[in-house]
Amino acid sequence: MVPDEDLQEERRVRRSVYHHAYYLAHLEERRAYQRAYYAARREKKRVYRAEHREETKTRNRAYSMGHREEIRVARGIYRISALLAYGWNCACCDEDQYEFLTIDHIGGGGSKHRREIGSRRLYSWLADHNYPEGFQVLCHNCNMAIGFYGHCPHQEMASAGRMR
Ligand SMILES: [Zn+2]
Ligand SMILES: [Zn+2]
Repeated sequence: MVPDEDLQEERRVRRSVYHHAYYLAHLEERRAYQRAYYAARREKKRVYRAEHREETKTRNRAYSMGHREEIRVARGIYRISALLAYGWNCACCDEDQYEFLTIDHIGGGGSKHRREIGSRRLYSWLADHNYPEGFQVLCHNCNMAIGFYGHCPHQEMASAGRMR
């Protein structure tokens, strides 16, 4: 290396060491600033949404209308992934027709959970949480029967030996 290049290299290193020290010294400060910044932005958005509720709703609806197909496909992918993750077939009667299947919150509490996460978000919520335990695939018939009567008639048929 010619001396000039050496000098340049040395300067470069010294500069980067200096920058790194500066970076570390101001890390907490910057984090606090960022936290405050994002908190303020969230609050601003919340206030805006509260003040423009109808407008926001209309805009979201318009967006959904314009992107119906994409949203439908995205939802479908989440739905398929969830059904696959939980075994695909109805846990009660073995039904495996896609259109008949749904995800059941084992032991009830499904509608409360759906309310908490938003009525149509269950499938993406499951993906975000790595398909946790406590859910199963049911067909709509079995799901409804269990919801209405607390049990599915398939189970009585099975114990009476009429099914399989
Ligand atoms: Zn079933
Ligand atoms: Zn059943």
